[in-house]
Amino acid sequence: MKSFCIYCGNSKPEAHEICGACGATPVTHEDLIYSIILCHSEGEPYLNFLSLEEIEALREEIAKGNKMEVSPQVFNQAQEAFSAVKSMGSPPLLNKFARHTSRLHIIILVLVLLGLIFGA
Ligand SMILES: [Zn+2]
Repeated sequence: MKSFCIYCGNSKPEAHEICGACGATPVTHEDLIYSIILCHSEGEPYLNFLSLEEIEALREEIAKGNKMEVSPQVFNQAQEAFSAVKSMGSPPLLNKFARHTSRLHIIILVLVLLGLIFGA
């Protein structure tokens, strides 16, 4: 899984974690969604909201000092996946899911597909 900072474009270990390069952490809902959109996984292509090329293009915009822009459809898909995960409950439960990521991935896959079917 690759994650990139939405503020400076550098790569970082996890979408929601602090950026080692600029020290920023996504705090607002919108910034968290953008952080999720800027993730890319070779092993789990269904978790990707953009292609790696599109992410690279966004990183260039960020590096130039521009705000990243995605289509409302992409944003909504990421938002639905995120809010579904969040609504599953308490932080301990989220931690449990974090340790069993394959289950979480399946749930996200289902939600993304539902979003594609009903959100379009
Ligand atoms: Zn950064």
